Amino acid sequence: MTATPSAGCAHAVTERGEPERADYRGAFAHAPLPLAVVDGEGLVVDANQAFAALVGAPPDELAGRVAADLVDLASDARTWHTYREVLRGRQADLRCTRRLKHPDGHSLWARITVSPMPGSADRDGGGTVLLAAADISARRELQARLRHVQMHDPVTRLPNRNLFFERLAAALEAGAYDDSSTGRVGLCYLDLDGFKAVNDTLGHRIGDRLLAAVAERLTRCADLAGHGRTAPPLVARLGGDEFALLVEESTGTEELAGLAEATLEALREPFDLSGQRLSVSASIGVVERRASGATATGLMQAADTTLYWAKTDGKDRWTLFDPERNAHRMTRQTLSSSLRPAVDRGEFVLDYQPLVGFDDEDVRGVEALVRWQHPQFGLLTPNRFISLAEEDGSIVQLGCWVLRTACRQARRWQLAHPEREPVFVSVNVAVRQVWDSDLVADVAGILAETGLPPRLLQLELTESAVMGSTGRPLQALKALSEMGVRIAIDDFGTGYSNLAYLSRLPVSALKLDGSFVRGFQYEEGETQGNPADAVIVEAMVQLAHRLGLTVTAECVETAAQATRLRRIGCDTGQGWLYSRPVAADRISVLLGEVNPGPESPKEPGVRPSAGRTRPR
Ligand code: C2E
Ligand code: MG
Ligand code: MG
Repeated sequence: MTATPSAGCAHAVTERGEPERADYRGAFAHAPLPLAVVDGEGLVVDANQAFAALVGAPPDELAGRVAADLVDLASDARTWHTYREVLRGRQADLRCTRRLKHPDGHSLWARITVSPMPGSADRDGGGTVLLAAADISARRELQARLRHVQMHDPVTRLPNRNLFFERLAAALEAGAYDDSSTGRVGLCYLDLDGFKAVNDTLGHRIGDRLLAAVAERLTRCADLAGHGRTAPPLVARLGGDEFALLVEESTGTEELAGLAEATLEALREPFDLSGQRLSVSASIGVVERRASGATATGLMQAADTTLYWAKTDGKDRWTLFDPERNAHRMTRQTLSSSLRPAVDRGEFVLDYQPLVGFDDEDVRGVEALVRWQHPQFGLLTPNRFISLAEEDGSIVQLGCWVLRTACRQARRWQLAHPEREPVFVSVNVAVRQVWDSDLVADVAGILAETGLPPRLLQLELTESAVMGSTGRPLQALKALSEMGVRIAIDDFGTGYSNLAYLSRLPVSALKLDGSFVRGFQYEEGETQGNPADAVIVEAMVQLAHRLGLTVTAECVETAAQATRLRRIGCDTGQGWLYSRPVAADRISVLLGEVNPGPESPKEPGVRPSAGRTRPR
């Protein structure tokens, strides 16, 4: 007989049918994988020893038992539904993981698969199924241990960054969607003050022990704070000496402030690390907000900024996030980064404010005041950007532009009004311009280029900029003065006010700070004015005159102030009484008005602009 392999196989089955079935039965009975044959009604037909051991029942007592009860398939609706569908032959298989309780008390994890026995389908498609239940407890435990390692910090045993962010994301989600929660989350972001020094001087071992001890105290604080709430705040180590306390379902900033305060208090207590007594403090940034709309990154950025404030405000403190302070910081950053290109793009303009003689109320000069026409923030006054420009050095380039523009304008006025005494232009100069640029060469170049006579240029420097001037700055001031340029001390009276010292510098004018002028608000004889101010200012003006300096009063806002300042002997005044800082063309009008030329003789005592010039 010539037999094909398959025919040979078929032959073998017919010939050895019974013994082979016995082999399979033996294999089923002793297979290490727990197996049960279940009929279309869900009752156990047969189960092997491993299955019996898994569910803790003798194998011969399993037949007829409800399989779903043995491996807990009915406890959740979805699994139960799928299981029923498999029994009816409408679904290919069921796979699920179950935590089973063994009669001896221990519990285990089982991976359950239920699939139809091949060839067992009845007319309706249902039939016997094979149920396998693999014990995966060991794997689950390993996974859990791996997860613990991945989610915890070995030094402090606290949850690490990964777990912290997982919990934060979950808290934000729960807070936003769970109606029963407060809908808020809070965060204390903590950094030890001077931890690096501990590490550097005492070594990493002590450093690590300190971190572990800190972690313990933080956990204690969190536990205390957790009384009366569903769960205590989560304490995590985010890295280095940074920790975080996450308050889910926060009740408001007060709760967070209390936690931060208690934490600082707990950390102030010295640490005893194997004989080493260590005192540390910490800084904490506190953020508390509604969960809905908040993101983990946004919250952490806010916490980071706030922690930075706590550090810069002096450490050993907690600081609460302040949106306004943050906006200010952000605009400062944005402004700072766009300053340099703004100079190149020509986004700056100059306003001019008249300096008016007290004796005849005629315009003697104008102060150039820079403004930034910012594409996003609109017109910005110098107090928003001058200090930034000084910090990053762009003041040198900006200052040069101001100087050139102001000198060019002053020269134009001189040429346009030959009939009148020309007005000088007073330009503010920052300390850094004196130090970091060749101011003398720049000024000389600009005067030559614009044709403005040096006597029509005044440079305003602050007291602090010229005080203690030696070396290069002093040389620069001397060279400028010798060139014929006037040097004025701006905001006089706010700094050292050392007139005797000033007399040794090549200074020709003082600009009395607005804070003095403010005391001159009332007519003489009225009680509100501080007489001490008047005495001081009068003495200063007299001394300045004796030293050959002219005096300008800043911020003259009322006629009463002007009257008293004139009486005291101030030479010129500058302020809103006469004019706000205005665009160059307004000054041109003003010069024409005050000195209208031969056709219409000038009325004496006409205030150049009072009430007529409006700011841009
Ligand atoms: P400053 O040199 O003391 O300029 C006078 C400031 O007082 C100006 O403010 C002016 O608008 C304001 N002011 C004038 N009259 C009155 C008044 O009657 N009442 C009150 N309350 N204020 C008055 P502004 O324009 O905001 O300038 C602020 C400061 O920015 C200036 O103070 C100056 O130190 C600085 N600055 C302005 N332009 C420049 C510049 O081109 N370079 C440098 N380095 N600094 C500049
Ligand atoms: Mg000034
Ligand atoms: Mg001033």
